[in-house]
Amino acid sequence: MKDFLSKTLLAYTFILFIVILISGLVLSPIVTNYYVLIAVLISMFIIFTLLLFYVFDKYFRPIEKVSQTIDKLLKGNYRARIFHTMKGTLGELSSKVNALARNLSDLTIQEQIQAEQLSTVIDNSESALVLIDEKGYIHVVNRKFLSMFGGKSSDYIGYLYYDVLEKEQIHKTVQDTFLYEKNIKQSFSIGEILDKQYLEIVGAPIFNDRGLLRGAVLVIYDITEFKNLEVKRKDFVANVSHELKTPITSIKGFSETLLDSSEEDEETRTKFLKIINEESHRIKLLIDDLLILSKLEKDELEIEPIELSTKKLFEDIRPIIEQKAEEKDIKFECILSNEIIFEAEPEKIRQILINLLANAINYTPSSGTITLQASETEKEVCLSVSDTGIGMSKDALSRIFERFYRVDKARSRDTGGTGLGLAIVKHIVEVHQGWIEVDSEIGEGTTFNVYLPKQQ
Ligand code: ADP
Repeated sequence: MKDFLSKTLLAYTFILFIVILISGLVLSPIVTNYYVLIAVLISMFIIFTLLLFYVFDKYFRPIEKVSQTIDKLLKGNYRARIFHTMKGTLGELSSKVNALARNLSDLTIQEQIQAEQLSTVIDNSESALVLIDEKGYIHVVNRKFLSMFGGKSSDYIGYLYYDVLEKEQIHKTVQDTFLYEKNIKQSFSIGEILDKQYLEIVGAPIFNDRGLLRGAVLVIYDITEFKNLEVKRKDFVANVSHELKTPITSIKGFSETLLDSSEEDEETRTKFLKIINEESHRIKLLIDDLLILSKLEKDELEIEPIELSTKKLFEDIRPIIEQKAEEKDIKFECILSNEIIFEAEPEKIRQILINLLANAINYTPSSGTITLQASETEKEVCLSVSDTGIGMSKDALSRIFERFYRVDKARSRDTGGTGLGLAIVKHIVEVHQGWIEVDSEIGEGTTFNVYLPKQQ
């Protein structure tokens, strides 16, 4: 543009020169004094040239500035402005161009902010996201997607989805989304048995303003936790049914025998009735424990802690345990060096100690010893139950807090165990923000340490 203006100015100057020259030639026969004529022609040329320059500077140069600024704006430089001071219509034009540039610049900044916000949301989404255009090329993959499927974004972006995504279910989801133009859901799994992940994929079509399909967005959720929970629930129901089946079958069998044969002698009748009574007691214990567990799960966030003293707690428990221990000829030591005050829900803490002490009695042969003691650190209280009983293997230790897990099924059944005692203990400890440790040696004994924060 600048070039163009200089050339135009040069051309006009040249035309002016020619016009003056022609005027000189036209006037030469009339004018007698050539010196005067040349002086007049030169003066005219100088005056008109100055005039030409003035007009160019006043009107054409500002237009040139405006045009240059518009060129820069067109190229995307929204910071370009006209700094040339102008008056009149040109001044108005330049301030309008500046206002337009400012608006464009604001819009770009807003657009950038929105794009950044969108990419932050996409990148920090807990679900994997993939954006595919109508031709099947991948445009966006987020961080979660890369953490699930591995690789870098450059391994996916710009490629056809079926070339870089291996899973057949993903291909099917994309194809069905394009075909039916509606949301399509599928589930599949990735990884090996040990670190298997269960995923759910939802394909959603993207339409433009005219309702034409422009691509699809794939959202992939990790539903592993949910699946595991479902498996755990199914296992739990199966376990409960199994636990109930044995005593119920036994009750049914013995009651039917009693009903069928009226001639049974008194001794057999009493024996059968005793079995029926024991089995129904077992069912009661199991149902009681199941109720405690389900109540614990319901009240998870609602414990009502009050100030508790280890002294009072141990005094409450001592008679119950002493009697049970005596029945099995087991020595019960209740060591309380100093009273410890802490906050917890008394009923629940009593339940922990009763379950641990009952186990200690159940799994310790007669003439053994069980011990209950408490110690403290600045922030925690430690309630400790130890015995000199049968102990457990290291492998078993990692599983004993699972529901219905028993090291020795027959032995647990003989002691009237439900297989839920330690699961209940662990639950209560966790509800109180504490933790439990166990140390055991086969044939030597077991120690459970329950750590609870003094303040809830
Ligand atoms: P149970 O009702 O069968 O005792 P628990 O959940 O209380 O169920 O305990 C789970 C299993 O852990 C028991 O079956 C038993 O094998 C083992 N166990 C628990 N406490 C002790 C202990 N003090 N000594 C040895 N084994 C124990």
